[in-house]
Amino acid sequence: MKSNMRPESLMMTHGYKPELSEGAVKPPIFQTSTFVFKTAEEGKAFFEVAYGLREKAKNEELGLIYSRINNPNLEILEDRLCLWDKADKCAVFESGMSAISTVLLEFLKPGDVLLYSLPTYGGTDHFINHFLKDIGIHSIGFRPDQTKEEVIELLIESGYSDKLAMIYIETPANPTNELIDIAMCREIADRFGTQDKKVYLACDNTYMGPIWSSPLDHGSDLVIYSATKYIGGHSDLIAGAVLGNEEVMQRVRVLRTFLGNMASPHTCWLLLRSLETLKVRMEQQARNAQKIAQFLENHPMVSKLHYLGCLDRDSRSYEIYKRQYSAPGAMIAFEIKGGEAGAFSFLNKLNLIKLAVSLGSTESLVQHPATMTHTGLCPELKQKIGITEGLVRLSVGVEHFEDLINDISMALEASQQERQTKCFAVELN
Ligand SMILES: *Cc1c(COP(=O)(O)O)cnc(C)c1O
Repeated sequence: MKSNMRPESLMMTHGYKPELSEGAVKPPIFQTSTFVFKTAEEGKAFFEVAYGLREKAKNEELGLIYSRINNPNLEILEDRLCLWDKADKCAVFESGMSAISTVLLEFLKPGDVLLYSLPTYGGTDHFINHFLKDIGIHSIGFRPDQTKEEVIELLIESGYSDKLAMIYIETPANPTNELIDIAMCREIADRFGTQDKKVYLACDNTYMGPIWSSPLDHGSDLVIYSATKYIGGHSDLIAGAVLGNEEVMQRVRVLRTFLGNMASPHTCWLLLRSLETLKVRMEQQARNAQKIAQFLENHPMVSKLHYLGCLDRDSRSYEIYKRQYSAPGAMIAFEIKGGEAGAFSFLNKLNLIKLAVSLGSTESLVQHPATMTHTGLCPELKQKIGITEGLVRLSVGVEHFEDLINDISMALEASQQERQTKCFAVELN
């Protein structure tokens, strides 16, 4: 069904018919494992399509079978998520990691090569470099600052370029907001694809989607989310989503049916609640982030700021930013003077902002990448990508920006005082 209305106008109603649920304005939680067929013929027809034995007929209305395959809460949620990314189809998973691992398992077979961007989410990195490696899938990482020619050279020099099956990217990169050019990755995928073997491009859009960026518009075949983050947005659930065209999503959905890693009716119901406020939440978070970045920009305790709203206008990053994103997002990383001690005293002093990993939620969260989310990275890579001892990552929430800035300001001052006191003590000795 085509509609001229914007996604935010449809998040309360799309895909749900109240008359099928006693007139309830909101979809009830369909807490059931299985569904009654009207006739045996109907059951047969539903299974034929679900198992891919035949295509759905043009005007055929498919009913429900079993909650591992489909469930009203899951289907309404998937229909609504499709609107933001203008995707044909969506599959929702019980976690972002299950969405990611299902995609990688479906599109990569032993002997294949995966090209992926560095750094990538820790769980994704582990899956690529342990599980996939052990089953004979070779991976090659590239950095956001590498040009198209350099990445192509990297592939050719590896001697595996004819085995390339998928490019997997995460942009902006966590935690320093480095950008990857999606269109460039599409060109690389097409350069190594053949008529018999397409090279697929998948993009983890957790940081910027679905409001500020739609990777499908820039040539990605698949877009992946940890719905635990902005989409869920309340730090009260774990979920993931994958979107794309009919062809790729049929494959992803069939594998999900057999891995059985779909989201539960209750999780889907919570996500439906979350989608109604997705846009207002994310816009408020972005507004707050801008105010905080302006405050941090010239603060004497801050030696470096990673925020997409203050990129150098002449840089390649800025050009990519303008093309791929409609706002600078709500993730900020900044370096506090005084290394780990400086960062820790700042983190320990915060009141309103909570010290926790995860991101994209209504409450602001802060963490220390070098010893928390990115602790597993080798020191050379940490150094190279700017994960210094003093770096903290802030996910900005929906609180009043002045309260957030007051909290940050107080903690930075306390950190500065602690630092000066220490210096003084050294001098006395
Ligand atoms: C959190 C996160 C994931 C993993 O998602 P889970 O829901 O925790 O399984 C993947 N990618 C990115 C960018 C994330 O932030």
